[in-house]
Amino acid sequence: MTGTVLIIDAMSNRRIHIRARLDTTAYEVDMASTQAEGLALIRKEAPDVLIVADDLPGLRLRKFCKLMRSQPQTQLTTIVVAVQRENQAARVSALIDGAHDVIDTCADAADLKARLRKFMRTKNRAAASRSQTPHIQGMAEPLADFDRQANVTFVTTPASDHCSTFKYDLPVKLGFKIFNQTPEDVRRTPHEGTDVFVLIEDNTEDETRDVLATLKSHPASCDSRVLFVTDVAGRNASPLDLGADDQVSLDVTPDELALRITRLTRLKCASETARKNASELGELAYRDALTGLSNRRALDDYCRRTDRLRAEYPRRLALLIADIDHFKAINDNHGHAAGDAILAQIAKTMQSKLRAGDFIARYGGEEFLIVVPDVAAKEACTIANRLRDAVARSAISLEDHTHVRATISIGVAIAAKCEQTTMHTLRRTADRALYDAKKNGRNRVELSGIYTPHGHAICQAGTGS
Ligand code: GH3
Ligand code: MG
Ligand code: MG
Repeated sequence: MTGTVLIIDAMSNRRIHIRARLDTTAYEVDMASTQAEGLALIRKEAPDVLIVADDLPGLRLRKFCKLMRSQPQTQLTTIVVAVQRENQAARVSALIDGAHDVIDTCADAADLKARLRKFMRTKNRAAASRSQTPHIQGMAEPLADFDRQANVTFVTTPASDHCSTFKYDLPVKLGFKIFNQTPEDVRRTPHEGTDVFVLIEDNTEDETRDVLATLKSHPASCDSRVLFVTDVAGRNASPLDLGADDQVSLDVTPDELALRITRLTRLKCASETARKNASELGELAYRDALTGLSNRRALDDYCRRTDRLRAEYPRRLALLIADIDHFKAINDNHGHAAGDAILAQIAKTMQSKLRAGDFIARYGGEEFLIVVPDVAAKEACTIANRLRDAVARSAISLEDHTHVRATISIGVAIAAKCEQTTMHTLRRTADRALYDAKKNGRNRVELSGIYTPHGHAICQAGTGS
């Protein structure tokens, strides 16, 4: 079984009709004839999809939907209202009251099956991303209003009778910005910036479904939502299975069409926001909060990437480790908060002296790691001395209006172009050079060199002080 469905309808023939049209090999289907009976079943086990008749005695749909969405166990249940086909007003009010979708009481089997597959897919995706994006779960989630005019592009053949009906009724109602394209236009380039494409299929089935595939794969439209308007069912794969986000029949009223477009626009805006938040969150995970530099995690990623790339494309580089001198004493004399401000200021000073292709990260407490690609020893030492000098020269003003000067010591390690030294080895080498810089008086740059048996570096960068 791939999901559970509960049908609540007082009329047994309609319950049975809907049940017969579901794929009972794929779904476990339960039935109830009253609201109380239905709620008891829901409490026992929340269904994936709930199909409820709009004329169920005692049903107050708005309250019911609100209740379902307020409970953690039914939050992701898709609520579908079954309405008599000719009752257009009931369809619209069910959507307004919070139903995810509306179907006909005498639903077509192929359409119902396709919708159910779509609901299950949406629910499974929402369940998977529940912790990150609790809002983009279904059509009727309480989504924030979008703060701009929605762009809606109608795709019809010029000869289509339906084009004018939809096109002229909608703008008056909701102030959408309406555009028109033919299938030919879409194949060239779908209208960029479209929130919702309304794809109207009258007598051109294969062509319209081909356009749907184009919209879903083209970079200009793959994030847009697609509302498929058709009366063709059953013969081929359903538009919902082919990637359409919603589907209605050609006799849809402008009110219902406008509602569905509004919802799709909100869903699109919500997923845009979720994507933006996720990327900002991802960005934050790689930044050091105090200095704004890359943090240890970003540094490890960078080193792994660099090792991989250098194995494939040999490239020389310099790795520098900078450490603030006597920082413990600075903390002791000026307080930890002043220490933090100094740390941040030194990070800023060093960053301002590096080029765009260089990499700098906070390595540890008061240590920084810098990678400068494509330089040999001499240039690397010049760069290191430039950093050291810039820090030594800048007076850092503290909150109490006093000024502090701090210095840094730097150890430099070099990897030649074809040398397969790993970043890990380079770090250890630069660490050793840093130790020498401290030992030799601080505010110094030391280049790791070829070590003599006595442990002295033959090649040294000297001091700047
Ligand atoms: P050296 O010149 O040998 O590097 O001496 P040092 O005092 O800088 O080195 P030591 O390792 O003895 O002390 C480092 C100090 O840096 C101790 C620690 O409290 C301080 N420190 C580390 N991270 C932070 C931080 O985020 N903020 C502040 N204010 N201090 C920090
Ligand atoms: Mg230190
Ligand atoms: Mg240190």
